[in-house]
Amino acid sequence: MNLSKRVQSIDESATLAVAARSAELRRAGIDVVGFGAGEPDFDTPPHIKAAAKKAIDAGHTHYAKPTSGIPEARAAVCQKFARDNGLKYEPDQVIVTVGGKEALFLAFAALIDPGDEVLLPVPYWVSFSEQIRFCGGGVVPVIGEETDGLKVRPDRILAALTPRTKVLVFNSPSNPGGFSYSPDEVRAIAKALAGRDIVVFSDEMYDQLRFGDGGENLSFAAAGAEWFEKTITFNAASKSHAMTGWRVGYAAGPRQMIKAMAKIQSHTTSGTATFIHHALVEALTGDQSHVAAMRGEFEKRGRFMHERLSRIPGVSCVKPTGAFYCFPNVSATYGPLGVAGSAEFCTLILNETHVGLVPGGAFGMDTHVRLSYAADLATIEEGLRRLDTFLRARVGG
Ligand code: PMP
Repeated sequence: MNLSKRVQSIDESATLAVAARSAELRRAGIDVVGFGAGEPDFDTPPHIKAAAKKAIDAGHTHYAKPTSGIPEARAAVCQKFARDNGLKYEPDQVIVTVGGKEALFLAFAALIDPGDEVLLPVPYWVSFSEQIRFCGGGVVPVIGEETDGLKVRPDRILAALTPRTKVLVFNSPSNPGGFSYSPDEVRAIAKALAGRDIVVFSDEMYDQLRFGDGGENLSFAAAGAEWFEKTITFNAASKSHAMTGWRVGYAAGPRQMIKAMAKIQSHTTSGTATFIHHALVEALTGDQSHVAAMRGEFEKRGRFMHERLSRIPGVSCVKPTGAFYCFPNVSATYGPLGVAGSAEFCTLILNETHVGLVPGGAFGMDTHVRLSYAADLATIEEGLRRLDTFLRARVGG
């Protein structure tokens, strides 16, 4: 069978591959500490579950009308954006999708022609590069330097522009970086790009998981009238409401884009399940106390993990200010350990210490690895103890 060139241009998700190997070891009875998870370890709040059950019992089990978002769900999304992000979208500027992932895919599919270039800040979430390539786009990496806290500077973005540049991907708080851009940093990028023919895809999946010392938040679309017109804002219930398995996300932006995305969706998934549109309404407009509770817990764990990682010889880590990831540079250990890069490093660590990490190479940065702290403190402590013991013995310090 000759698979399409398009599918051959992409890789399997590396984050899933590590999870699979950890699961294999666990099945063999080995006590694995997994830092690979890309999802909250909390349960979906009961009031959101109740809304879904009620919707099923009320017969909301046929196609959603329209499939790209029932009016109540679109109104709820508008309410969320106005409340949390200061963004005044109208319901016809909103689409409800099968997770945040579908929203991003539909947007790339709606905008990218073969040969178009997409600026992708490094480190990046693994699916961005694969979705862009699948749609025929060229990935143009823009490196976030360690000295800038892994964030991209405006001059770096300007230097990467070409006549074929169509989109800038912007993700704050960042997966995998765990950092977030301050309002001034967002404004500086917006200012540098002012007047350019470029669309910004702003992935704000973790906007509610920003910590106290991360400062104020500024959505890219709120950086000025020009950017409200040229930004698609992406979000989902997945991370802020512990709803990864529900598969519900949403996006908002210019009507022409949203309409194009809905057209593709109408011929592919027909959107997420109807009763889940109702659950989204509850997640976005019902009691929000679970969000602050999760944020507080993640902040505590993030601080702890960062502090413990920073003590390990050969490891340095940008302080996390959002999401639930630490992304340390471990490249100083590669020589002493005799590994060629992050994939070999993670394999060695998994085999020797039974700690599951995700290679930074999957996020465009082979010097780093990602650890998720979507695990309880005792688990985090045990995993870091193993890493510390192993690296201290093998690397020194
Ligand atoms: N964007 C980023 C930055 C993410 O980390 C994720 C989830 N790992 C997604 C999008 C996709 O989220 P969802 O599960 O809602 O599809």
